[in-house]
Amino acid sequence: AVAAAARTVTVLGATGSIGDSTMDLLRSARDRYQVEALTANSNVEALAKLAKEFGARFAAIADPARLGELKNALAGTGIECGAGESAIIDAAARPADWVMAAVSGAAGLKPALAAVDRGAAVALANKECLVCAGDFFMQRAAKAGACILPADSEHNALFQALSSGNREELVRVIITASGGPFRTWAPADIEQATLEQALKHPNWSMGQKITIDSASMMNKGLEVIEASYLFALSADEIDVLVHPQSIIHGMVEFSDRSVVAQLGAPDMRIPIAHCLGWPDRIVGPSARLDLAKIGQLTFEAPDFERFPGLRLAYEALRTGRGATTVFNAANEVAVAAFIAGKIKFGSIARLVEATINDWIRAGNLAPLSSADDAISIDYNARNRAASLLPQIASKAS
Ligand code: NAD
Ligand code: MG
Repeated sequence: AVAAAARTVTVLGATGSIGDSTMDLLRSARDRYQVEALTANSNVEALAKLAKEFGARFAAIADPARLGELKNALAGTGIECGAGESAIIDAAARPADWVMAAVSGAAGLKPALAAVDRGAAVALANKECLVCAGDFFMQRAAKAGACILPADSEHNALFQALSSGNREELVRVIITASGGPFRTWAPADIEQATLEQALKHPNWSMGQKITIDSASMMNKGLEVIEASYLFALSADEIDVLVHPQSIIHGMVEFSDRSVVAQLGAPDMRIPIAHCLGWPDRIVGPSARLDLAKIGQLTFEAPDFERFPGLRLAYEALRTGRGATTVFNAANEVAVAAFIAGKIKFGSIARLVEATINDWIRAGNLAPLSSADDAISIDYNARNRAASLLPQIASKAS
């Protein structure tokens, strides 16, 4: 049974990797949470199973063709359901105190904004939506009194470490990167890497898109931009440090030269638990950190040449005026093309660079004036990237 004072929670992207970790945390303290809504892209079976297990009030599936299937799966349970993008937005708009935004890609932006606009506490895993919307996401949150809790492990680490000093005392933040499966690879091998090789992440088990982004280090690029918008930091105040063990997730350097770090096993339930408990801490189910067993923590500077995605992210952040929206949109198109076997791994960054350059040449850079602006730039940039795709695919070695 759920306690009367239970917190109501909604999980957007409940069937994914972050969704799974979140449901696991909710499962370990069932009486403390009432699940309001759960959403998924197309897996009706997994969504219905979770909705029934947690006694959700509403379940939404993004694929509009699956409404009948979902209705059947939930028949007799009293759980309301819906399908299509509007149903995902409806799920986010329903009154839950806490919302996990864990859709993959900028497709999660409108639902996340629906939760933000009603002033919810929003645990944000979906970094693409922040990179897409730019400053507007945080501005909308401030206006609505929504609290954005960073669920991405590096940003959660920074969130925890930042409270050791104030803005004037802050010198820089450092986000760590595992370096991914190609950390030690020669450029020619990275160029030709297969999907199977890109999907073998050394430390983390994650969804397909972010795993490929980790291999290209586009993920770290997205995270640099994410850190800039989340914490109002300039590109110069954000450094990346390769740390193959993924134990230190983020560090903050202050003016007295103290560096405050957050450590933990590479288990997403740790940062998610921090978001779920915030401003308190809950008892987490994750393994305790045993540094003696790990033995050593090592560090390297990132290689901007072998991993041009990281360079492109900094450039987009410095360019501003919609460039990070274009960066994200082009990367989503490039990753989908790589998964579909249309381009080589090395062409992911090439397509992103070509799209941004084309965008700038066309004179399309302009200050964003709203999140809706970002959504239309995202749409147009996807079309630009798609039109450049054949040329990139044929030019590559
Ligand atoms: P995933 O692919 O495993 O799951 C994505 C979820 O979103 C699924 O429930 C899927 O059904 C749903 N979804 C996908 N496309 C959708 C659409 N168009 N409309 C509605 N729902 C849709 O991805 P993930 O690894 O859980 O990552 C989710 C987000 O969290 C991403 O933005 C990722 O960058 C971020 N993130 C993930 C991790 C991780 O460890 N997996 C860590 C940090 C940040
Ligand atoms: Mg991360």
